[in-house]
Amino acid sequence: MEEFTTLQCPFCGQSFETMVDTTVASQRFTTDCEVCCRPFEVIAECEDGEILSLDVVGN
Ligand SMILES: [Zn+2]
Repeated sequence: MEEFTTLQCPFCGQSFETMVDTTVASQRFTTDCEVCCRPFEVIAECEDGEILSLDVVGN
């Protein structure tokens, strides 16, 4: 199950929505900011259908 969540870019501070697959309990992936286009890492902890925590890490 995929859930929309709001991320905040660690570089420019802009918030935007992304999809997280909540069937994966612990995951990290890299995404690009929609505004400044810089890549950053997202660390997500999930239960099925629910996002428990979300951290963003700028490289
Ligand atoms: Zn940005």
